[in-house]
Amino acid sequence: MRVRTLTGGLAAVLVLSGPLLNGPAVAVAPVASVGAAQRQVVDDVVTYDTSGAAEFKAAVERGAAIWNESVETVELRPVASGQRADVRIVADDGWPRSVPTSMGNGTVYIGRQAVDQGYSTIRIAAHELGHMLGLPDRKPGPCSSLMSGASAGTSCTNPYPSAAEKAQVERNFEGAPAGALLGRT
Ligand SMILES: [Zn+2]
Repeated sequence: MRVRTLTGGLAAVLVLSGPLLNGPAVAVAPVASVGAAQRQVVDDVVTYDTSGAAEFKAAVERGAAIWNESVETVELRPVASGQRADVRIVADDGWPRSVPTSMGNGTVYIGRQAVDQGYSTIRIAAHELGHMLGLPDRKPGPCSSLMSGASAGTSCTNPYPSAAEKAQVERNFEGAPAGALLGRT
C-alpha cells in the first residue's frame, strides 16, 4: 500500500492554483487546514502478520517499532484482521532466516536455535525485518551493524540499524512504490 502525506507548501499551492488562474476553484481546501507545520512522507506501508510468531510476537513488534523509529519512507504495520499480510512471521526450531519474494514481501522465520544459543530475540527480529526492507547480510561485522547478525556474537544485543543501513532502506523505498523495485505491484 502506498501512503504519502504532504501538508503545508504543496497542499497550499494546490488550493491556491485554481482562483489565481481565474479558473474554477480546486476543491482540495480541506488539506490545507490540517496545519502547515506538519510534514510526513511515508512512501510505503509493509504489513506483517505475527499470528505464527508464537513466543516471539513481542520481539517482532519491538523490532518493527525500532524500524519505524529509524526510517521515514516505509512503515511496518501489523496487518488488519482478515487481510493478507506482506510479511509473514513464523517461529520454528531452525536457525533464523528470511525468504523475501520481493522488496517488502516474504516470510521471516524466527528460529529457536539462535535463541537457545543466547542471541537477542529483538536483534534477531529487527535483523530479519531488515532483510524484508531490502538489506543484505553484512557478515562478519561489528555490533553497531544490525545486519552483521550473529557474526557480532551473543554478547551483542544491539537491535538498531546503523546510519548506513537506515540510509539504504530510505533509498529502497523513497519515491517508488516498493513493489516496483522488485515487481511487487
Ligand atoms: Zn541475515
